[in-house]
This record gives sequence, structure tokens and C-alpha cells, in this order.
Amino acid sequence: MLLARLCLVVLFLSSPLAVLGQTPKFELVKVAEGVYACIRTEPPGLTVNANSVFIINRDDVIVVDTTLTPGTAREELAALRKLTGKPVRYVINTHWHDDHIMGNEVYRTAFPGADFIAHAQTREYLPTTGLRNRQQAMAADGYPGFIAALKKSLEENRNFSGAQMDEEERRTYASDIRIAERYMRENPTAQVVLPTITLEDHLTLYRGDRVIEILSLGRGHTSGDIVVRLPQEGIVITGDLVIWPVPYVGTPQSHPGEWGLALEKLIALKPNVIIPGHGQVLRDDSYLKLMARLFASVKEQVSAAVARGEKLEEVRRSVKLDEFQKQFAGDSHIRNDIFRIYVIGPAIAAAFNDATSKP
Ligand SMILES: [Zn+2]
Repeated sequence: MLLARLCLVVLFLSSPLAVLGQTPKFELVKVAEGVYACIRTEPPGLTVNANSVFIINRDDVIVVDTTLTPGTAREELAALRKLTGKPVRYVINTHWHDDHIMGNEVYRTAFPGADFIAHAQTREYLPTTGLRNRQQAMAADGYPGFIAALKKSLEENRNFSGAQMDEEERRTYASDIRIAERYMRENPTAQVVLPTITLEDHLTLYRGDRVIEILSLGRGHTSGDIVVRLPQEGIVITGDLVIWPVPYVGTPQSHPGEWGLALEKLIALKPNVIIPGHGQVLRDDSYLKLMARLFASVKEQVSAAVARGEKLEEVRRSVKLDEFQKQFAGDSHIRNDIFRIYVIGPAIAAAFNDATSKP
């Protein structure tokens, strides 16, 4: 029962935190001159808020992704104001999920001249699938049900598998509740700001001496993923094409087979600094390679099963991801749950969709 609710939340692939008066839950990490990552400090959970990045140029600022709620975006904007008085000229949204776009209105209000850049698919999804997901998230069996279930678990000290909770699980459930409560408090009245500039393939911005490439590497986490690359600094800002420590996959929005190929293209760019959509700054490509192997394996195993004529439920039994689960989740109970909920279930279903829906 609870699992079903949690799986429902998977579809939203959104989330946040930080109650009024509470310390903002991000850490500002300087990765190059004028480039700062806002790395969320909530534990990786069943729901999440997303990282943002500030790129401070000669005359202006570019913001990549704007977090899950206007309030968390305002906290990050306050940190930017301490770094520079330059105006935000562009906001780039790496894809259409709420945890990357719901702070857009804060930047539109503060900087009325700013343009919003995203993939053309993101502009199409925001008022359609994005709106439906938001409505589902706010419905009784969305975040409100999720919050009630997590509170009950904490009260009873039982995780949703029925086992006694450990300290990491308690901390994570409490953080998830705060994220979901903040979503419910702030987002019903929040405005969705659509992209004013879209791209299909690539777009390059030149701001002073800085070169900023915006690239579509193919479908992966969604069909409208873009990556922001600073070629001179060797930095890539990946959105949810890279999520640490466990990737979050959605059905039917993700495309595991193509996701692996997009990651190969990302690796070929030879970045020195990788700022993922969620999780810590990465300094080498070993995690990208692990993710690429995972999705290649999902695609290969699912394709083989489909070729044998298996139906989805049979495919679920025949695909084996235990070795990957160990590598991503280790001994952590909560990370193993995240892997089961966000990878095994949706990745197999999404790969099955792709394998059986080709013309
Ligand atoms: Zn996402």
C-alpha cells in the first residue's frame, strides 16, 4: 500500500525542503572563477530538491535550474546577491521536472529582462505532462498521502518494508517530509515560467570572455534533457542525466537505452568537473561510466527478453540488476530502497516501452 504511494511519487520526480526560519539546505561550492554550484544538502531520499549553478560573467549572470519551490530559489538568489550585484540575464532549465523549474518565477520577478532557455520538448511538456504531474503531486494521494505515510513510518519506527528503521532512514524520511510539506505550502500558488528561447540540438552563448555551450545529447532522463558545458573551464552541468548516488528513472518519461548513449557522449567531452542534477560535485568520470554500464545492461537485457517474447511481468523477473544495486547502494537501506523504487521498477518498464513501441 505504502509502496504503491511511494511509486506514485516516483512519477513526479520532484521534491524540496527548508522550513521558514530554517537554515537553507544547500552548500555553495566554487568550481571555477565565477562559477558556483548550489549543492543541495538534504540526504538523497524518496523525494528530492535539485542543484542549481550560478555562472557569473563580465556583465551578467546565468542561472542553471531553479529548485523545487520559489522559497528555495529565493534562498539561493540571496546567496547570489552576496557574490555579485550583476543581473541575471539567462535562466537555463535542464528539463521540465518541478525540482528544476519551480523557482523560475523568482528570477522573472527579480530580473524582468531575463530569458529562459530550455529544450523545445521542455516547453511542450511544462503545460501538459508537467501540469498533470503537478496536479497529481498536490492531490490527496500525492504528496499529502506521502507525508502521512512517512510520518506514520517514523512514529512506528518501521520503514515501508516493515523493518525497523536505522538512523539514516529516519533522517531521510524526516527530510522528505519537510521537502514535501514545503512543496504543498508554496507550489499551489507558484507560477510556471515557460522557456522564451528553445533549442533542439545546441546553442552557444558568448558573454564577455566566457563561452557557454548548451547541448542536447539525446533522450535520457527525459526527452528534453540539456547539458550546459563551459569548454574553457572543463565543466559540465548535467541536469538529471547524472544523479548521484542513485539515478532516478521515470516511466514513461525516461529512455534507458538512449540514456546510456547520451552518457557516452558526455564522457567523450572529457569534463574535469561534473555538476549533477542531484548529489555532490564529481571530479572524474567513473560514476558516469557506472551509470552508462547500468543503462546499457538494462537495454541489452530487456531487448533480449522482448526478443524471447516475454511480457513485461516476465521481463521484470528475468532482468537481473543485483550487481549494479550493490555498486550504487552498498549497505545503505535507504539507497537500496531508492534503487528498487527509482531504478529497477521504472527503468525496466521504460526500456520495455521503448523496445516494444518502435515502428
Ligand atoms: Zn528530473
